[in-house]
Formats: sequence, C-alpha cells, structure tokens
Amino acid sequence: MLKDSDLIPIEDMTKFESNDLEILLHKILNYLKHITSSDAGTIYLKEEDSLKFYIFQNDSFSYETIYKMQEPLKDFKFKIEPNTNTIAVESFITKQVIMIDDIYDETVFDFKSAKEFDKKFNYKTKSILTAPLVNFYSGEVIGILQLINKKNDDGKLLEFSPEDKEFISLSSYLSALSILTTQKSLKEKESITQSVETRIIERTKILEDMQKHLLEQVHKDSMTGLFNRRYFNEMADILLFNSKKEKAELSIIILDIDNFKTINDTYGHSIGDDVIYNIAQLLKQSTRSSDVCVRFGGEEFVIVLPHTSLENGIKIAEKIRNIIETNVLILKTNEKIQYTISMGISKIEQEDTSLEIALKKADLLLYKAKDAGKNQIKF
Ligand code: GH3
Ligand code: MG
Ligand code: MG
Repeated sequence: MLKDSDLIPIEDMTKFESNDLEILLHKILNYLKHITSSDAGTIYLKEEDSLKFYIFQNDSFSYETIYKMQEPLKDFKFKIEPNTNTIAVESFITKQVIMIDDIYDETVFDFKSAKEFDKKFNYKTKSILTAPLVNFYSGEVIGILQLINKKNDDGKLLEFSPEDKEFISLSSYLSALSILTTQKSLKEKESITQSVETRIIERTKILEDMQKHLLEQVHKDSMTGLFNRRYFNEMADILLFNSKKEKAELSIIILDIDNFKTINDTYGHSIGDDVIYNIAQLLKQSTRSSDVCVRFGGEEFVIVLPHTSLENGIKIAEKIRNIIETNVLILKTNEKIQYTISMGISKIEQEDTSLEIALKKADLLLYKAKDAGKNQIKF
C-alpha cells in the first residue's frame, strides 16, 4: 500500500513540467530517485525501433564525472526485439515493472552494460527497478525509466519494495504524460519557427522586389520606361570614368523630334504622348543593352554609346534616323503618323573632365541639324 508520504504533493507537480525535454527528464528522474531512495537512474525513450539513451544520474559521482560518463552513451540504443536478455527491452515489450534484487545473482538478464559500468568506474550495481513509461490514454509505451541501488539512510544497499513498484507504476503515467506534452510543444514550436522563417524569407523577397522597383522608378521615366535625366546625371561620371579606365571610346547622341509642336497641334497632346512612347520603343529596339537611352526632356533623347567610336556612332545614328523616318505609327482612328528626328553626335576627348562637355557639343550640333533643314545628323 502507498503511504501518504509516497503521494506527489501538489507543489511538486512542477517537477513534471518543463519546456526543455532534457531538463524535464532530469527533474522526473531526480524526483523518483528521491522518493524511492535510489542512488542512480536512467531514462530511455523510444525512437523508431529502438530505445534511445537520454539521461543518466548517479549520486555516487560528481557532476563532472557523470558528464564524462554520459558522453559515449549519447547515441546508445537498445533495439526493441524479443529475447534480448535486456531488462529495459523486456520491460518495454511486456509493459511490466521489473525488479531485480541483485544483478550478480540474476540469470534471466545478462546486465552486460551494468557490469561493464561497474568494472570501469569501480561501482557496485545491486538492485534495479525498471518501469515502462506508458501513455495513459493510448496505452502506448514511450520509453523506459530505471532506478538503481535503493539504499537506507546509512547508505546500506536494499532491495526495492512492492510499495516502490506500486509508486513507480503510478507515477510513470504522470511522467509519460508530461514527456509527451513537452515533446508535442517542442514539435509545435519547431513548426511555428519554420513557418515564421519561411514567412520572413517571403517578406524579404517582397521587400527586395519593392526596393528594386522603387529604385527603377527613381531612375526611369514613367511614360517611356527609358532612363531619366536624374539617372543620366548620376551615371555620367561613372560612364566617363569607366571609358577612360578601359581606354575605350565613347560616343553620345542627342536627338529631338522634328516639328513636334505641329504633331501636338494637329492630333492633340495625347497622341503627342503616343509618339514619344513610340520613339522610345524604337530607340530601345535599335540599341544594345549596354547603351544608355535617356529621355532627356519632353521630346528630346540622349543615347550614350560606350565602346563606340564616333565613326560607328554615326552609323548607329544614321540607322536610328532611318528607322524613325520609315516608321509609320497607326492611330486608333487608323490615321497614320510619320515623323522625323534631328541628331547631334560627338565623342569624349582625352582631356574631357565630364560627360557634359561632349553632350554640350552634341547639343550644338543638334541645333545645326535643325538649322540645316532637320531629319539629319550633324557631327
Ligand atoms: P523642332 O523641329 O525645332 O524641334 O520643333 P518642335 O516643334 O519639335 O519644337 P520643340 O522641340 O521646341 O517643341 C517641343 C514641344 O514638345 C513643346 C512641348 O509642348 C512639347 N512637349 C514636351 N513634352 C511633351 C510631352 O511629354 N508630351 C507632349 N505631347 N508634348 C510634349
Ligand atoms: Mg525640343
Ligand atoms: Mg522638337
């Protein structure tokens, strides 16, 4: 029969609670050792088809020694299969509390590892009580707990009593329940952490995309998708610096739509916008990705051509002029618009300290092209 002193007082229930599985197992084992006056104990938990060693306590050794003893046991497992001569596996399979008075008088179980332990650490294992940890609701065994060497106040080794057996049988349900709760909450925590992590990755990607998009908006002209004047100003020095560093030539074209006011006046401002959009697409299509096409002002554009001599720049300019001259923009009303451009082109010189110098020269040439009758290139 259980005595009142064997019952777990309410305040001691905290021993069966923890967010950390290992701490919980230590608390449980410590408590059960204390109640049964045992010197040592071990807990194994079921993992797949084995009983995996989890924790070990032995009051005859210092904490540091215990720590060292545990190290090689970290991955230790008993395979769960019948007739292993192992008390832990037997208790697990039969769901029985098994008590042994003296392992050295025992014939059924071999106690190989206990005897090896005794030899190695000069310890004397005598009595053992092994109990299954049973899930109260499902009846499933989730592990094994073992108490070793019951002793009296003078340290004399005793045998485990029927009361110990009864007490451990009852409290093992409570232990199993608290172990299961902790395992479940750890699993939940892990899955929450994982989902938070995936969400952080997703959000970061969205933020990066937004940042990229914003940066594009800052640098691009919203109507045409070409770079804007701000980008040109920011990039001008870099483009010049790179060309000089690579000892490469660089040409710059400035172009303006001819008689654009007339287009606006004839078809309206909105159609004027369509023309600007149309020319931007043609410029993009007829340049390389390394060329920088800029909407410089209303209907004025700049094209920076890195790695391009003036001679080749003129060829490109002529190609563009021709493409635009022959291009026919068909309106929703089926009306057809054709327009031309004038261009000025120049190249950077060795002594130039900014890209503006070449741009100014090109701009003057653009005026000359206009003066000379438009739809032409001056260089
Ligand atoms: P030129 O051949 O000498 O270039 O004559 P132009 O009529 O094209 O004269 P200019 O280049 O000075 O005209 C620019 C006009 O473009 C003035 C302005 O109203 C119009 N414009 C500027 N930006 C926009 C725009 O975004 N949309 C429209 N529809 N018109 C614009
Ligand atoms: Mg203009
Ligand atoms: Mg114009």
